[in-house]
Amino acid sequence: MNPVLRGNWNYPTTIWAGPGRIAELAEACARAGIRRALLVTDEGLTGAPMIKNALAALPGAALFGAVRGNPALSHVEAGLLAYRTGGHDGVIAFGGGSALDVGKVVAFMSGQTRPLWDFEDIGDWWTRADPAGIAPVVAVPTTAGTGSEVGRAGVILNELTHQKKIIFHPQMMPRIVISDPELTVGLPRALTAATGMDAFVHCFEAFCAPGFHPLADGIALEGMRLVQRFLPRACADGRDIEARAQMLAAASMGATAFQKGLGGVHAIAHPVGSWFNTHHGLTNAVILPYVVVYNRIAIAAKTEVIARVLDLPARGFDGFLAWVLELRRELKIPHALADIGVSAEKAEIIGREAAVDPSAGGNPIPVDAAALERIFRAAVSGRLEAVGGAA
Ligand SMILES: [Zn+2]
Repeated sequence: MNPVLRGNWNYPTTIWAGPGRIAELAEACARAGIRRALLVTDEGLTGAPMIKNALAALPGAALFGAVRGNPALSHVEAGLLAYRTGGHDGVIAFGGGSALDVGKVVAFMSGQTRPLWDFEDIGDWWTRADPAGIAPVVAVPTTAGTGSEVGRAGVILNELTHQKKIIFHPQMMPRIVISDPELTVGLPRALTAATGMDAFVHCFEAFCAPGFHPLADGIALEGMRLVQRFLPRACADGRDIEARAQMLAAASMGATAFQKGLGGVHAIAHPVGSWFNTHHGLTNAVILPYVVVYNRIAIAAKTEVIARVLDLPARGFDGFLAWVLELRRELKIPHALADIGVSAEKAEIIGREAAVDPSAGGNPIPVDAAALERIFRAAVSGRLEAVGGAA
């Protein structure tokens, strides 16, 4: 018998968690002040019963389903066109990370006059936005990984420069999140594993990022513990509602924690995703141990804390690294980027772009293009020993 898996939470935003709560979607829209919603979802979900049911429950709502993985400016522009021609007054961002990000950015851009790239997450660029022009969002995640449902940013690919840009505004945070584990039961095992590992990496990188943020640290530790306990269960049996509910919570916790910062894993994964169109969570899962090894001298004490919280059989840095490798094996995550179609031919560019990715600033050891290129090359070839370590 499952414990009670239902709750109404109010941080970092209003979250209605529990099986079956998608039935409250119309009420969520009403509370958020949305009467004519544009429902933004992933291309692969447009025909899904959960989307049909949502539209049936919302008179006045229309569907925008032209969102693919690693979404680009063209997806946002098409969504904006649909939003404006349909006379909508808010967005339901419904799906995986790509749909959530595009939905949030469409709502953000709906009342802006400046171009999208003016709102990249640099300094105080977000203050350029007109807050009155930001439409409300109700977010409905269908994967447990990105945590974008509780994030204040969207990651959008600039097709011209091949760079992923983070578009940020504090008001991009969805008004209400419906966190219903029943919506994630159909997610295939491999995607469950990849997205779940993204949640883990969010917690791990946030915990190891330098800076004073005990709130984020606490959330990150518990998030890692939930992934350890429940991701293998969710992969073994996709209909395990408790595991699905706990993983949705862990995903939201990861994104809450990474307000503190991310690190080298995401810094490398972003350009890899841009150039090779690989799945974000899977890319992170493959790269993780290589960055862990590189950061060894800076994270020894922190990995000891993690090893204790997770009650790992072997403690300290080595115990943690061994466990990460074992978890990846158990989840059938490939060991090398070459196994997911990534080659070393763009290594120099990847290193350069990773160095200017905003995530790089959160790495526990300062990293430059040369170091990131070396880590990337090691990850492509699957040779952990080729990482070396920070000098
Ligand atoms: Zn991520």
